Amino acid sequence: MKVLVWAEHEQGALKDATLSAVTAAAGLGAVDVLVAGDSAGSVGAQAAQIAGVEKVLVAGDAAYAHGLPENVAPLVVALMAGYDAFVAPATTTGKNIAPRVAALLDVAQISEILSVEGPKTFTRPIYAGNAIATVESSDAKLVITVRGTAFAKAAREGGSAAVETVAGTGEAGLSSFVGAEIAQSERPELTSAKVIVSGGRALKDSETFAATILPLADKLKAAVGASRAAVDAGYVSNDHQVGQTGKIVAPEVYIAVGISGAIQHLAGMKDSKTIIAINKDEDAPIFQIADIGLVADLYSAVPDLVARV
Ligand SMILES: Cc1cc2nc3c(=O)[nH]c(=O)nc-3n(C[C@H](O)[C@H](O)[C@H](O)COP(=O)(O)OP(=O)(O)OC[C@H]3O[C@@H](n4cnc5c(N)ncnc54)[C@H](O)[C@@H]3O)c2cc1C
Repeated sequence: MKVLVWAEHEQGALKDATLSAVTAAAGLGAVDVLVAGDSAGSVGAQAAQIAGVEKVLVAGDAAYAHGLPENVAPLVVALMAGYDAFVAPATTTGKNIAPRVAALLDVAQISEILSVEGPKTFTRPIYAGNAIATVESSDAKLVITVRGTAFAKAAREGGSAAVETVAGTGEAGLSSFVGAEIAQSERPELTSAKVIVSGGRALKDSETFAATILPLADKLKAAVGASRAAVDAGYVSNDHQVGQTGKIVAPEVYIAVGISGAIQHLAGMKDSKTIIAINKDEDAPIFQIADIGLVADLYSAVPDLVARV
């Protein structure tokens, strides 16, 4: 089977999500990587280093600069004549592109796979991760998104793939990029951080959230996450949200502060290696999945922790 992997990149750097997608794709067959963008050449060179990649296709065109699915999907569909499967990371961009590719190919997308069980058989989460379905495709071509936390990252170095330039399909004329407001942060990115400190509704407001959560995150060099309740109440921006409708994370350590542990939150963090929960309610559901639980008032426990770390 020949597999084409969508390379996720930002500001000239290949993102880790691509590496997990390559590992998943390698379970299906020979892996080529597609790098599309206006400065795709340098990213193409990085992709060629990934262990296990056979060929890198570079489509350098301003039409792909912002990953607009209306422009990217026709490119992928044109290339799919030579491939059996298209694999994209289940990131915002990947989840934007893959459904359009599937629709244009007239096949069913297989979303957020957790494992490859056979050439056309996969597992994937359903009911917010409370059940795992095994699905088998009967389509001639596969369109798959990959949950990054479920697959090891392919090595960034060690490969020596051939790099080939491919002609772009240009502007589809269906959409245009207006602008992006990207939060700048010195902190590690939520989805690739080793340690995450997350705050919930109990943090009261944005000032209290910042004054309580950030000192602990600073000490631990951690990314900052939040429950949807904290995001909806405006304590932090929505790019911090962890959960079913937020980001899926699996850090070494996840510290949940004043978070009850609703299933929609657990769906985004329950695969974390060590879960530490601080909550004043000993019956809070978060304690059912926590490896270490502290029944305490966060306003004394967190400063205490900061002082001791
Ligand atoms: C379709 C859908 C999608 C959703 N997606 C998401 C999602 O992606 N992510 C997400 O997080 N939620 C999501 N939710 C919302 C989810 O159901 C919960 O409402 C939300 O996670 C609750 O957030 P919380 O734990 O911060 O708040 P609460 O449930 O109100 O919990 C606050 C906790 O803080 C504790 N507490 C209060 N004061 C203190 C104190 N002083 N010290 C210590 N502990 C204290 C309380 O005991 C309580 O357990 C979704 C819901 C729906 C319906």
